[in-house]
Amino acid sequence: MDVLTYPHFGPLTRLFKAVFQELKVPEERIVAPSVPNKRTLDLGSEHSPEWMCTPFKLSLGSLIESLEKGANHVFQIGGIGTCRASCYGPVQRVIIEDLGFSAKFSNIDYHLPIDMLKDFKSVSNGFTFLQTVSAIRKIWVKNYSLDLTENLINFYRGVEIEKGQTDKVANEVYDKLFSIHRVREIKKYHKQIPKIFEEKIPIDEDADPLKIGIIGEIYVVLEPMLHLDVYRRLNELGVICRNTVSLKKFTDIPAKLNPFVKEYYKVYREKARPYIQQYCGGDGQESIGATILLRELGWDGMVHIWPFSCMPELSAQTVIPVVSHDYNMPVLPLVVDEQTGETGYQTRLEAFVDMLKIKRENERNGQPPEKITWETFNYD
Ligand code: SF4
Repeated sequence: MDVLTYPHFGPLTRLFKAVFQELKVPEERIVAPSVPNKRTLDLGSEHSPEWMCTPFKLSLGSLIESLEKGANHVFQIGGIGTCRASCYGPVQRVIIEDLGFSAKFSNIDYHLPIDMLKDFKSVSNGFTFLQTVSAIRKIWVKNYSLDLTENLINFYRGVEIEKGQTDKVANEVYDKLFSIHRVREIKKYHKQIPKIFEEKIPIDEDADPLKIGIIGEIYVVLEPMLHLDVYRRLNELGVICRNTVSLKKFTDIPAKLNPFVKEYYKVYREKARPYIQQYCGGDGQESIGATILLRELGWDGMVHIWPFSCMPELSAQTVIPVVSHDYNMPVLPLVVDEQTGETGYQTRLEAFVDMLKIKRENERNGQPPEKITWETFNYD
């Protein structure tokens, strides 16, 4: 009997489990990954090549923990690509076999949709191709709501009056979202989510928060164990922040098929083109473009997080100081690996926020602050 698992992937972990639930895989055949901790990263680092990027190590550690709990069929994202992400699955399979586990690997690659469907269909409870497509469609629709909710959290938590209220409301929203199974109802609920936050979370109307964008490699930007809860840390410093990277880049099939829709990451790439003409893998080009776009929209600064030895983000990092200078947009670089300590990380964030406040006061030159609302914050 196949017992399925997948690596932990920040808030998106919920989506992976939901795919199997929609495919009616019985609960006893799913081993959901534990929330990663230091042991997870140590385990992955111990069995990875030293020079390998940090997401590889954390996801390997996450898979080993699930295999220890009895999983024997791994779903890993990967396939054709321009950086090491393309070899995660095959290399992790070899390492896992060397460790004495026997596991089947399915590489989920959006470039090969038919293979991807076959893999999901093969583990479903007797689904046809059409039923498998329908199950996956529900998940990509939910991904929009997940992105929206994450953005709402990172706005409201920075200006909430009662500390903890945003997290409470977000958990209610997630519970409701993952209890809905019809696409029409998911879309209807999606429209209600901003209103739910607005009605249930009183905010400080006089708050004058800084606006900071988060750029960097997708796994690090989404996984709290690797970004060390950067969104919460910034919110607790009275900052509202926003992630600029999303799984939508790979999964938004309707937008890809619609010539009138410009996908968000294409907008970033266009902005970046004067500095870096070609796609350089991962999210490197987008990191540059997002910095330019957010400055044009009046944001105060960016935090650039990337994993040690990440090739695309290292390419971006060589260009970002020039962009930062040309656009007068401060960017705080944070490299993360298994040695990253919390204290130095926090100190750098606090110093960055203090510096941005001084810069903003100088630029305002005595002008009153603009009133901040979800509508003015949300640029989608
Ligand atoms: S984008 Fe960077 S961290 Fe991610 S797989 Fe590629 S090289 Fe590794």
